[in-house]
Amino acid sequence: MTHPIHDQVRSALEACGVTVPEGADLHARTPITGEQLMGLRATTDAEYETALTTAGEAFTAWRDTPAPVRGNLVKRWGELLTEYKDDLAALVTAEAGKIPSEAAGEVQEMIDICDLAVGLSRQLFGRTMPSERPGHRMMETWHPLGPCGIITAFNFPVAPYAWNTAVALVCGNTIVWKPSEATMLSALATDALLGRAAKDVGAPEGLHHVVIGDRTLGEKMSDDERLPLISATGSTRMGSEVGPRVAARFGRTVLELGGNNAAIVAPSADLDLALRGVAFAAVGTAGQRCTTMRRLIIHEDIAEEFTERLVQAYGTLTIGDPSTGESLVGPLVHGGAYEGMTAALAAATADGGELLCGGERVHAEEYPEAYYVQPAIVRMPGQTEIVRTETFAPILYVMTYRELDEAIAMHNDVPQGLSSAIFTTDVREAERFVSDAGSDCGIANVNIGTSGAEIGGAFGGEKHTGGGRESGSDAWRAYMRRATNTVNYSNELPLAQGVEFL
Ligand code: NAD
Repeated sequence: MTHPIHDQVRSALEACGVTVPEGADLHARTPITGEQLMGLRATTDAEYETALTTAGEAFTAWRDTPAPVRGNLVKRWGELLTEYKDDLAALVTAEAGKIPSEAAGEVQEMIDICDLAVGLSRQLFGRTMPSERPGHRMMETWHPLGPCGIITAFNFPVAPYAWNTAVALVCGNTIVWKPSEATMLSALATDALLGRAAKDVGAPEGLHHVVIGDRTLGEKMSDDERLPLISATGSTRMGSEVGPRVAARFGRTVLELGGNNAAIVAPSADLDLALRGVAFAAVGTAGQRCTTMRRLIIHEDIAEEFTERLVQAYGTLTIGDPSTGESLVGPLVHGGAYEGMTAALAAATADGGELLCGGERVHAEEYPEAYYVQPAIVRMPGQTEIVRTETFAPILYVMTYRELDEAIAMHNDVPQGLSSAIFTTDVREAERFVSDAGSDCGIANVNIGTSGAEIGGAFGGEKHTGGGRESGSDAWRAYMRRATNTVNYSNELPLAQGVEFL
């Protein structure tokens, strides 16, 4: 009997008005069963050229459209995303294996960023500054960049695309999107709804394009001078390849790369709250979020009790088919991810780690091509090389500390710098953690886990996480170029710095 997910995918695609370019180049599959959903044809060179040319042509019309009018497109897109939320969430569940509530949450993030971007369309503020010269005015103005290339990862098939697109569009740019080869159907549906929104509001044609292909297509975009910005979400390995290629042509990047996120649990913490915060962050999306908690740094006085309770909580997790709505933990994306998890656990135990629970594959008989795992907790004697590596699977390494400064040093002693948390009720500890001398991450939370960011803040991280910022706050500036304008409204020509000439 075919799994119901096949029908759900077909009906969601139909509802969103997608025409799938069926073919045999790439395979849309579901990690729920490991089966193929459909074969897709990759974007041809000629289609890529057309996409880039029309994105360039549309840009000249779009940049002349007032920003608040551009906001109408994003507003309409947000309405359609709301209307088709269940269909998009079904596609995210089918392709990324997310449980329905997390899949719906991802679509909600798209709706939220549309709201933010509509407001932003009237707030692309520049500053004025006093000129040292009489009869002169200085100001900065912000201008769109052109067609922006967006490359995204499998684990958030649609939200990071929307963080980039909603904001980039109101800033006056056009879009060329290469989604992950694992989540192409979710991408086609999201793009189809943007297409419908563009028609509804009478926006110029050619504003947005999805191109389908593997990493070589991403490489081509990275080298393409017609894309002044490449915003790329994915592994640190990918970022280390994209970054230099784009830099070689003096393009801009927004890099959103791997994380290795930790929480410190202090002795004063509300342990019930911390337990829930840690469990959701470590196990949600089967450990396949960039913000997944991978390290727990816990005070030695409470380590034993807390770890025991955490192991018990892990024992109550329901693992299985996410589409039923009855599981909390869905599958890993593919067999390679399972192999990565097994290898990491072997390395951790070789380093002296003690596997406290998890690591076993489950439902293998029912779904031999799908990879469901029991999330693992490993007690480590210290932060060895494997702990400092992002393994994209549900493994939580537990280490202990005595003094807060020691915990913060351990916390920061990894290559990545995305998200972080401290659980404490001591205001001095909390403040120290978010101070200059505290967490070195782009996201530092108090009494909240590492995952589940809201769109209002700027999202991204430091060090090998790439340094990019997307979504809220002033992240919009990455999608615009700044010009400093000095206007002389006097009849004289005084030179700056008192220079005399002619
Ligand atoms: P991945 O790096 O394998 O692929 C991501 C995207 O990059 C895909 O579209 C892929 O085709 C493309 N790509 C790969 N190599 C490329 C290259 N050399 N040039 C151009 N494009 C290339 O990542 P994944 O397995 O899909 O996703 C998981 C990773 O993404 C994890 O490391 C996770 O932490 C990270 N991630 C980070 C964030 C963030 O915001 N920081 C968000 C989601 C995922």
